[in-house]
Amino acid sequence: MAEPRAIPAALLALLLAACSGVDRPGVPATGAERQEARRLLQAGAIPQQRRLDEAAQHASLARVVRHVRPAAHRVCQRVRGANCGAILSRSPVRSRDREINAHVDGSHRVTMNAGLLRAAGSDEEIAAVLAHEYGHVIADHIDKRMEDASVGALGGLLAGTFVGAMICDRSNRDCLGDLVQTGGSMGLGMGALAYSQQHELEADYYSALILAEAGVPLEAGERMLMRLARTSEGREGGYGPLGMAMARTHPANDERIARWIANRRALQYALSTGLASDSQLASEARRRALETGAGETRWANPRTGHSGTISVKKRWRAAAGEACVRYGWKRWQAAGRKETQGEETACRQAGGSWQVR
Ligand SMILES: [Zn+2]
Repeated sequence: MAEPRAIPAALLALLLAACSGVDRPGVPATGAERQEARRLLQAGAIPQQRRLDEAAQHASLARVVRHVRPAAHRVCQRVRGANCGAILSRSPVRSRDREINAHVDGSHRVTMNAGLLRAAGSDEEIAAVLAHEYGHVIADHIDKRMEDASVGALGGLLAGTFVGAMICDRSNRDCLGDLVQTGGSMGLGMGALAYSQQHELEADYYSALILAEAGVPLEAGERMLMRLARTSEGREGGYGPLGMAMARTHPANDERIARWIANRRALQYALSTGLASDSQLASEARRRALETGAGETRWANPRTGHSGTISVKKRWRAAAGEACVRYGWKRWQAAGRKETQGEETACRQAGGSWQVR
């Protein structure tokens, strides 16, 4: 795996801003991503299982934990602030369970099943699962689940319905149905982690942040989701015996893969363009303003507290036919103090870039 990298705080803020809605964290999948997910599932090209023996499974898990836990800790610190040491202090353990599954319990301990460690095609896929479980911890799903579980069997059903009523669009019956079902399985009190699908998407989202922070290629998440989907399909009218529980509590479907792809792309784009720096935010805002903007285009960098505007004043065609724009710019350092400003003219070059005159 690659060297860890720090996700700039500003980038994290931008990405988290996208998930402030309760029901759908991260960016939504578009039709294109859904198509891609279906294509991937049909093509079914997943790397071979490694079929590690017990010693190799322990070694692999130890390598992954060394790499992923510090990254999860850094993401947690920025998302939650305090308490991260307490909730991430317990070392993940391997169970002998042959089911392809993993879970995190009420004391925040992650358990990775032997079945999962054996079925994974690489350390990176194992990292994707571990990051997902840490995602549940960071998003506080454990405590939420404990509260729900404490109300008992019938209460579980009611809790699911109640949560559903709060976070589902009232017209979205599927969402409500999922949650009622989830509530029902909570009520069975199976110690199992019957998270709602909303929780799964949220954990996937944090998982992507953690993997990026750890320098693990995000495509590993797709491969693992594909593997889970593959394991859980086909036999016995839909779910194979091994994949059954994972399929129930961790829905590995094309919608989830599509969403993973959408979030991976957004994250990779943001990382590759370095949206966290003032100058890049400013020049991206300037480019947008010059191409299409009317009036004022704003940018703001939550990390530095700096912000600015580009105001288009006039557009015209120069003698040689190129598009020119007269615009003013302003820049504020640290939330409104220390203003600088100026005015410039830029014309579009043959290659599409804008040259200041
Ligand atoms: Zn999960």
